[in-house]
Amino acid sequence: MRSGWLKRKKAEIQTPTETPSDLWSTCAKCHEVVFERDFQRNLKVCPRCGHHHRLTAEERLEITVDENSFTEINGNLAATDPLEFPDYAAKLEASYRATGKYDGMITGSAQIEGIPVAVGVADFSFMGGSMGSVSGEKIVRLMEFAEQQSLPVILFTASGGARMHEGLFSLMQMAKTSAAVARLDRSRIPYLVVLTDPTTAGVLASYASLGDVILAEAGAVVGFAGRRVGNQELGARLPANFQTSEFQLEHGMIDRIVQRKELRPTLAYLLRFFGAEVEEMEDADQSI
Ligand SMILES: [Zn+2]
Repeated sequence: MRSGWLKRKKAEIQTPTETPSDLWSTCAKCHEVVFERDFQRNLKVCPRCGHHHRLTAEERLEITVDENSFTEINGNLAATDPLEFPDYAAKLEASYRATGKYDGMITGSAQIEGIPVAVGVADFSFMGGSMGSVSGEKIVRLMEFAEQQSLPVILFTASGGARMHEGLFSLMQMAKTSAAVARLDRSRIPYLVVLTDPTTAGVLASYASLGDVILAEAGAVVGFAGRRVGNQELGARLPANFQTSEFQLEHGMIDRIVQRKELRPTLAYLLRFFGAEVEEMEDADQSI
């Protein structure tokens, strides 16, 4: 029988049925298969099409701040369920189990090229980076900390907007964070924002749009309402790059698009421009 041709005579030969996932990555945009080591070395930017893949807060800090310089503050703040919104408690629990975090906003102090900063990083993997009471509170406390310590503030945004499960409590964070930015302004503390994919809705309409300098990663979705909402209102008349970093740059909403590899030196350049100084390291062991 011809089907016998397909029978293996030597049983010990094994055909791999799948590519080991830790060896290769597939670009989410152009679907190019990339050697995982090259993908990581390229900071999760596709070497073929330049698509910037999302980073976790830890990955962002690792490529942005000086090694071992980050100290988290307010990491123990956790959301409650003030409205007893259906399934909210279970979603919080699942997000905590999946990410090991109590919230999608991670804040703390760090150094960038030796310059001390207060830094906050949103992690989209925690409930879409949505801004609830905890995110808002952590941002405000970070800004107050920066005021007390006279540190410039850098925020990396990534959020679908306010967290609907907390209703008005989350919408209030827009006013609360905006007021904190105004206080920074009065104290003449520099505030730099980096918009990453995606930054939309209530977050874009509050602290994300209020930076002294607003940078964005290439190709990030940046806009108040999504393309689908816009299309419903306007038909199919929206440009191809609608609600992207590039679109916002063309319309004067952001100052510059920065490639991921250039972000760290660009931030350091801006910090020096605003007068920040490198902190002299104390002699680690003066007895020698
Ligand atoms: Zn690609």
